[in-house]
Amino acid sequence: MKKLTLLFPGFKTKALTFSFDDGIDSDIETMELIKKYDVKATFNLCSGVSKSIKDEDVRKPGQLCMPLSLNKAKALFSDPHAEVASHGYIHPAYGHIAPSDALYDMLTDRRELEELFGCLVRGHAYPYASFNEDVMEMMRISGFAYARSCDSRYDFKLPLEDEWFHWRPTCHWRDGECEQLVNDFTTQDNLYYHGWLFYIWGHSYEFRETEDGFDRFEALLKKLAFRDDTWYATNIEICEYVKAFRSLIYFADGKAAYNPTQIDIYMRAGHLCGSNLVCIPAGKTARLV
Ligand SMILES: [Zn+2]
Repeated sequence: MKKLTLLFPGFKTKALTFSFDDGIDSDIETMELIKKYDVKATFNLCSGVSKSIKDEDVRKPGQLCMPLSLNKAKALFSDPHAEVASHGYIHPAYGHIAPSDALYDMLTDRRELEELFGCLVRGHAYPYASFNEDVMEMMRISGFAYARSCDSRYDFKLPLEDEWFHWRPTCHWRDGECEQLVNDFTTQDNLYYHGWLFYIWGHSYEFRETEDGFDRFEALLKKLAFRDDTWYATNIEICEYVKAFRSLIYFADGKAAYNPTQIDIYMRAGHLCGSNLVCIPAGKTARLV
């Protein structure tokens, strides 16, 4: 019997993803750094809030940040380094409003963002981290693939299959534990477990709250970027890849597997001594031994 371990595309043992909320103008500098270090991030937008902003609107004196207009958001996030996701049409606390209002808001946001960007929008971050069992079910019915909460898990584990609508990130970029986690992620080898996921979230306005905010974020990127063992992906890319791995269909003798998805799957079959690195191409069957 072989132990089957998820690896990320290219047999990488680790993955890194970022998530930023609110669709605000400090995302402009953040995107510059995301592109400079060739990592990827998910940006959770509120299309109803952005709709209320005109292209020519500017920040008032002393104002830390302001929402991006729809046109500015479209120009900024139409980039392969970014995933556009939903953060509620008007940023409501779904757990504290009528279910019909919550359903209307999440669907409206999804429809507006898909029309603006011309692509599927299947990710979400709960405004105020407010949700319950009904909200999670409405997310699923509304066509979302995942929704992120704000409760840090402080480890590199992947969400279980029933956790996609309560996807807990590894940590907030400003958490006291973040530095140690960066150290663990970059200095330890992941040889025995399913691929490690380092998921960092925050709000880009936090980089403006102190003089060195963006410098601190760049220092983080310097440690995490351009690593051979790491796959840099958006939230939805991680979600779709992990779901595809879990969709593999195994032969009864465990010696081969069929990949019914459109995504090439990478894995380690067996223990370290005597293990095989196996890629099962989309739509194909491959031997595991
Ligand atoms: Zn928010």
